[in-house]
This record gives sequence, structure tokens and C-alpha cells, in this order.
Amino acid sequence: MTELADPAPPPHADTSGDVVLAAAGLTKHFSVGGRRGAAVHALDDLDLALRAGQVVALVGESGSGKSTAARLLARLHLPTRGSVLLHGEPVTARRGRAFRAYCRRVQMIFQDPFASLNPVHTVRYTLTRSLRIHRPELHGAEREAALRSLLDRVQLRPDRFVDKFPHELSGGQRQRVAIARALAAEPEVLLADEPISMLDVSIRIGILNLLRDLRDRLGIAILYITHDIASARYFADEIRVLYAGRAVESGDAESVTQRPAHPYTQLLVRSAPDPDQLVGERRTATWSSGARGEPPNMVRPPAGCRFHPRCPFATDLCRTSVPALTGIGAGRSVACWGYADPDEHAGLPDLGAARQEVAA
Ligand code: ADP
Ligand code: MG
Repeated sequence: MTELADPAPPPHADTSGDVVLAAAGLTKHFSVGGRRGAAVHALDDLDLALRAGQVVALVGESGSGKSTAARLLARLHLPTRGSVLLHGEPVTARRGRAFRAYCRRVQMIFQDPFASLNPVHTVRYTLTRSLRIHRPELHGAEREAALRSLLDRVQLRPDRFVDKFPHELSGGQRQRVAIARALAAEPEVLLADEPISMLDVSIRIGILNLLRDLRDRLGIAILYITHDIASARYFADEIRVLYAGRAVESGDAESVTQRPAHPYTQLLVRSAPDPDQLVGERRTATWSSGARGEPPNMVRPPAGCRFHPRCPFATDLCRTSVPALTGIGAGRSVACWGYADPDEHAGLPDLGAARQEVAA
């Protein structure tokens, strides 16, 4: 990742902080039988660095490889290629003590708070179980105090919620319990996979604010996975945009959403609800430049830039050569031939007005 050269970095884009969790060239191809060697190219060559006290958003439409990335980082999947590093050390364990230690430090929050809590168990049971697993040194009154402080952390009054069953809780309350359960492990990293997308619009901001509070108070690093770039702008310090399994753009959240560089990011921003209004109605995608079509078939992803079939600026170069994620200044990177040096490449696409002074 390019280092920030921005004279006025946003408050939390502290690139000097400790990298807690990193991905290097992370790749996952799922073989799908049938034709020999056929595989879904779910994720290719993802590099990522999560720093303590930082929220990085992974943004992309459905099928772009976001959950695959989270599952690779959580070691629920093993990569086809590439590695996951915790504090700079490659993570290789698949079982045993080292693996349990990793799972404790890197916790996942799932999209569906209805599916993630066992309906027959009370909040007390769920959280006590997690404390037993992750903090076996706690007993009796100490464990009870830890249980109560977990509920406090997620802003649920212990007396009111500790004996409730999941069906007695709203979606937002369940998601808070799921977060409390993750916090019982005292994690350094939360991988939050679409944590608000199944919740009522009116309570989404409350959950994001809670996660932000955990970032600020506990210094937890958060990977925030979303299809909604407006919520990423609201919540994240940095944004990385995925298209069809490849990162196409990254940078600080404000400038990526204000001055998107990649034609796909521009499409996302234009089809998002008003970025200042997280709870706004979704506008229909009207991209004047004319990007159309569906995401590609991931068993045979398009050659070259995977976005080229939908990109109104695509040239022959885009159809044949994969553009690398390349720095464009101010800590931003983009994988688009439209930003390449014309002295080094022939036949570059002309993004015209769509190519803004993105790093101005
Ligand atoms: P997202 O979370 O961005 O919607 P996913 O990471 O879930 O995307 O999926 C990326 C691609 O990988 C999709 O084409 C999906 O169908 C495919 N995929 C995900 N998991 C598997 C699996 N276990 N086996 C085969 N294909 C999978
Ligand atoms: Mg997903």
C-alpha cells in the first residue's frame, strides 16, 4: 500500500500505527467440479493492512469477494495463494493452541444476527460460554462482572437483557449481543461482514457508532464489509473497493467518496443514497457515462480489467492487460489504465471529465 503523503490526513488515517492484521496477495479460487479445473475466482491478489484503532471498509457489490476475504482473514477458508499476517508474522496454524490464540484475537461479526445466536440460549448463557472459552481464568463473581461489563460495552442494560432469549430481542439488540460475544475474547481485530445490512434503517447508525466507540476506546482494528459506500464513508477511515474479486481502488474514505477515481467507484458513488444521509432512499443507478450490465461470471472472469465489459472508457489495453493497483498520490491507489503514464503505454483509455483531479 502506498504511504500517505497527505498534508492533512483525516484524524484516524494514521498510517504510522501498528499494523495488526495484514493480507498479502490473498487469493481464493473455489473449484466447482464439472469441467476440469473449473473454479470460481472469488478473490485475487488482495493486499490489506489493518492498523490498531482503524476502520478499513471493503466495499463492493454482491459477489465481489468481500465475504471470501473476511473468511480467509478469519481462517475459516484457507487461501489458494497469498498469506495472512498477524503483527507481521505469517499465520500458518490450522489447529492447536496457536490457531486458538489467533481465533481469539481476530473475531468475526456476521450479517444475520438472527442466525448467529442460538435461539434456545439466554444472553447470559451465550456470553458466559464465550467468557469460559476465552477467559477461563475468570470464575464466579469475576465472571459475572465481566458479563455485565460486556453488556455495558454494547450499551445494553445488564439487568434488563441478561436473561432474555434471542426471540425477545430486536435485530439491533441481537447484533449488540453478537458483538458482546466477540468482545469476550478481547480481540484486536473485528471482521464485520455487512453487520447492519439486515437491520432496520433507523438503527443502523447506532450499531456503526457502537463499533466506532470500540475502535476509539479499545483501539480495535475493524474491517467493515459493506455493499453500501455511503455507510463506508460515514464509518470508515479507509476504503478499499473490490470489483469481481480484485481491488480497484483504495484511499482515505473521504477522498475516495468525494473524488472517486475508478470508473466503478464512480458508479458506486453515483448510485448510492446521498452520502451525507446514510438512511436515505436508494436512488436508481443513473450513470450518465453509460456503464451497464451485470457483474461477470466468476468462473471465467473477463481478461484484462475485469470491469472492462461494463466500462464506457475501455480500450483494447483494458480488454487484454490487468491494470495494477498503482499510487496516484495522497495515499490513494487505483487499478485503471486511465491513470497510467501515456509515455509507457499505448492506447490508454481517455476518462475525460470522469478523470478528476482525484488526488488534488
Ligand atoms: P460477497 O461477499 O462480496 O457477496 P463472496 O465472497 O460471498 O462475495 O463470493 C464471491 C464469489 O465466490 C461469488 O461468485 C460466490 O458465488 C463465490 N463463492 C463464495 N463461496 C463459495 C464456495 N464455498 N464455493 C464456491 N463458490 C463460492
Ligand atoms: Mg458477502
